[in-house]
Amino acid sequence: MIQIANLTKSFGRNQVLKGIDLTVNKGEVVAILGPSGSGKTTLLRCVNYLEKPSDGAITIDNFRVDCKKVSKKEIHLLRQRTAMVFQQYNLFRHKTALENVMEGLLIVKKLSKQEARKISVELLERVGLGGKLDAYPSQLSGGQQQRVGIARALALNPDVILFDEPTSALDPELVGEVLAVIRKIAREGITMIIVTHEMTFAQEVASHVVFMDEGVIVEEGKPNELFNRPKEERTKQFLSRIR
Ligand code: ATP
Repeated sequence: MIQIANLTKSFGRNQVLKGIDLTVNKGEVVAILGPSGSGKTTLLRCVNYLEKPSDGAITIDNFRVDCKKVSKKEIHLLRQRTAMVFQQYNLFRHKTALENVMEGLLIVKKLSKQEARKISVELLERVGLGGKLDAYPSQLSGGQQQRVGIARALALNPDVILFDEPTSALDPELVGEVLAVIRKIAREGITMIIVTHEMTFAQEVASHVVFMDEGVIVEEGKPNELFNRPKEERTKQFLSRIR
């Protein structure tokens, strides 16, 4: 279980997260929706400690990080337990698909080359890229690069995968293949938090939906409830604008 408690983040005087409380159970897929600038990406980046939260705590099972007094070792552990899939893929340009997936296994998990290679080949096959092991990112489509990004996140065997608008940089015809992979791994029981603007996908894949605005969680609930019977005025307005 992942528990985010009273998470706050300010950039200078701009308080972007104003005390976020969110619990994600094992195997759950949580979709985070909200207008541009509401703090969705910042929330994910804080959970992975790519941004240092100003205050709050993140707990994964029995491992608790108090953001006011966190050690380097705890940050390292937190990053191992939470993997991020980025909007812009963030692959190493000079490494092949296989080498990109192997990297974390060699550096973070300290596996032998042989073991790392075996696991990485399996993961790339799982995301439908068994035929592209030796391709460099520049030789892959955006959708394929993002699937390498997903395989790389899976390689760390994290407690949760954090997806930051995983399809927003893709040409429309490539969105489907990435969503299909996410859908597949969701069915396999991987815990996920997904920031997305793909409402149909969120409705279909998420077990829980969170609506954020101006740094707070305005409303959360089951997809059917939130999409069809939103309680809060701000949620209603947001949904009516995007439908
Ligand atoms: P979008 O849907 O457009 O990606 P978002 O909900 O993910 O938006 P964030 O990217 O989290 O929103 O940004 C929230 C606010 O924090 C914005 O006002 C943004 O300008 C500010 N912000 C984000 N990162 C930084 C940063 N590194 N330095 C200063 N301000 C930042």
